[in-house]
Amino acid sequence: MGKVWREFRSFAMGGSVVELALGFIIGAAFSKLVESFAQNIVMDSVAVLFGQPDFASLNLHIGRSKIELGAFLSQLLSFLLLAWALFALVKLISAVGLAERRSFEQRECPYCLEFVPTRALVCKHCRQPLVAELPDLAEAERRHGELHARRTVSVRQREKAAD
Ligand SMILES: [Zn+2]
Repeated sequence: MGKVWREFRSFAMGGSVVELALGFIIGAAFSKLVESFAQNIVMDSVAVLFGQPDFASLNLHIGRSKIELGAFLSQLLSFLLLAWALFALVKLISAVGLAERRSFEQRECPYCLEFVPTRALVCKHCRQPLVAELPDLAEAERRHGELHARRTVSVRQREKAAD
């Protein structure tokens, strides 16, 4: 039981699951925002331009049945807007360099094939050493400090370049 609980905890608290959940929540909120934009702003503009509140006038009546072409067009429009907004967002994120850290600083562990930070000395998943000779703690801390300093400098340089 304890083992299952530990496994569950490391799964649920693992960075990627928390990130995924946050992404999902933000994504849901974001899609609501875009939907609202489509409904309240775009459709109102359609109303101003065409004198119709939405595409409902495009609905087809065949005999007694109704084909809701207008409703479909409205949804299609919100979908296209959402897809476009997501595309723009992804472009923006990669332009700002937020995605960079993850993709460039991860590598696959050769033993368990999980992703680990490039500079990791030991795999966080299977505990296999990932360097030929493991340095002692003091040496590892010294290297980590160096790496951290370099990273801070590169962020500062990026900020400077953006000014
Ligand atoms: Zn591993």
